[in-house]
Amino acid sequence: WPAAYGGRDLTPRELAIFSEELALSRAPRPANVIGLEMIGPTILSHGTEGQKKRYLPPLLSGEEIWCQGFTEPGSGSDMASLRTRATADEVGWRINGQKVWTSFAHEARWCMLLARTSEAGHRGLTCVLVDMHQPGVRTRQIPQITGDAEFNEVFFDDAVVGADDVLGEVGGGWQVAITTLMHERANLAIALAVDVQVALLELLALIRGRELDPILGDRLAQLAAECEVLRTTAILT
Ligand SMILES: Cc1cc2nc3c(=O)[nH]c(=O)nc-3n(C[C@H](O)[C@H](O)[C@H](O)COP(=O)(O)OP(=O)(O)OC[C@H]3O[C@@H](n4cnc5c(N)ncnc54)[C@H](O)[C@@H]3O)c2cc1C
Repeated sequence: WPAAYGGRDLTPRELAIFSEELALSRAPRPANVIGLEMIGPTILSHGTEGQKKRYLPPLLSGEEIWCQGFTEPGSGSDMASLRTRATADEVGWRINGQKVWTSFAHEARWCMLLARTSEAGHRGLTCVLVDMHQPGVRTRQIPQITGDAEFNEVFFDDAVVGADDVLGEVGGGWQVAITTLMHERANLAIALAVDVQVALLELLALIRGRELDPILGDRLAQLAAECEVLRTTAILT
């Protein structure tokens, strides 16, 4: 993260080491993880100077939490089919539609939203920065089996986005979204891969000294190999 925007000018490799050490020491996840690991780096790549100055310092300090609005009830892996619409008007853009599985939307001040601005498939998508604290935005938490509720449905009903709050080009949302997802694969995956490894080590400590069913032993060995593949893939991404 560049020093000019409040970072320490460290390399991606150093960030990977930091994430791994945090996970190994079982430290709590940093707040604003979507902002820090995914959206901040996307604004650094695609944002205007004005957007970087406005959004990055409070994102880094945790004063403004971010969420990522890509997935919709009818649009998951096939992201180019999404239907939430951004329509140009005299104030900038009006947003209408629904997102789902939006992590931390109930805590977020800003949403990096992928919306449809024309019918041209993935070339008809535009990324906009939506203020979540406005009457046109409503969030509903989705309860999980664990008792937590960190995912949300988010409803946009004529929500307003300023003309300056398009991230990247109009119609260039696909490239912006791919940048975000690449950062998710790299930054977030390292911490999650180490979490799985730590859980596996704890399991091995529990069963040490006990007689082990050979089939179960094979499955544990397979799991250990898959964990290492996940971690190495994340580091190389
Ligand atoms: C922990 C977690 C946090 C999330 N947070 C967010 C968030 O903050 N913001 C956000 O926007 N989204 C979020 N999501 C949603 C996530 O991005 C979607 O789950 C993802 O895009 C997949 O969409 P889907 O769940 O509708 O699955 P589907 O697209 O319905 O896929 C279901 C299964 O079908 C397979 N499949 C799909 N299409 C094909 C095909 N053409 N050929 C073969 N197989 C196929 C998939 O591989 C998958 O196994 C989150 C998801 C999780 C699990």
